[in-house]
Amino acid sequence: MKTNQVSGQSRYMQNLPKLGTEDSFCFSCHPQIECFNACCSDLDLVLHPYDVLRLRRALGMSSRDFLARHCEAGAAPGAGVPDLYLKMRDDERLSCPFVRREGCSVYGDRPGACRSYPVGRGAGYDDEGNVFVQFVLVKEDHCRGFAESKEWKVGQWVEDQEISAYFEHSDRHLDLFSRIQQQNRVLAKDEIAKVMFALYQVDDFQVELKNGKIFGELDTQTGERDEILGDETACLVFAHQWLAKLLLAKRD
Ligand code: SF4
Ligand code: SF4
Repeated sequence: MKTNQVSGQSRYMQNLPKLGTEDSFCFSCHPQIECFNACCSDLDLVLHPYDVLRLRRALGMSSRDFLARHCEAGAAPGAGVPDLYLKMRDDERLSCPFVRREGCSVYGDRPGACRSYPVGRGAGYDDEGNVFVQFVLVKEDHCRGFAESKEWKVGQWVEDQEISAYFEHSDRHLDLFSRIQQQNRVLAKDEIAKVMFALYQVDDFQVELKNGKIFGELDTQTGERDEILGDETACLVFAHQWLAKLLLAKRD
């Protein structure tokens, strides 16, 4: 497959210092630091499907309620599927709804972008269709964390912040949309609705799977069906497979 697709995020990252997994940087973030919580307001924070899944489960909310309360649709690049942004509070600082004096109230399930900072990761496909991954250091002027002495290798940081699962889901997402974009497709309204439903409303998608005919379309076996119906993360993986079949089958 030849896609030559690069995510918007990785284009933004092209001018930032590039890092390999063995490269080091100094950084620490803790409640005693003078800028604590300074980065948790007025953000353009895109939520990926796995971010939504983790956050709304941590909050004990249905995806429908979470989307209505905490998300707003932004631009719809490429295929016509809108990015979802976390709605900031309507206060003076436009604070993140989850920030508290003592820090992030959803820390264990905070979005991938919050986990990863100050390391950014761009992923995409080169002209030969090979996947490439590039880490960069995102050094914001207001962030005092870089003046701290604690030293990290990028690989250690990824492990410590438990980001790998977020990267895996985001790569799966990128792969689906790269393939759609490679076909120069702009999705129809009903296709976009299916994408939003399957990827961002996994709990409702599970109900649809249980009662509908989708499993039959992908020839899924009983054990696999039980896992998908019992585990939302497995269901999100399945949602990508289903959408790939639905949206790309005729043209692959
Ligand atoms: S600005 Fe940097 S050091 Fe300060 S709270 Fe945010 S990430 Fe931590
Ligand atoms: S989710 Fe947590 S870490 Fe991310 S911006 Fe909000 S309060 Fe800050």
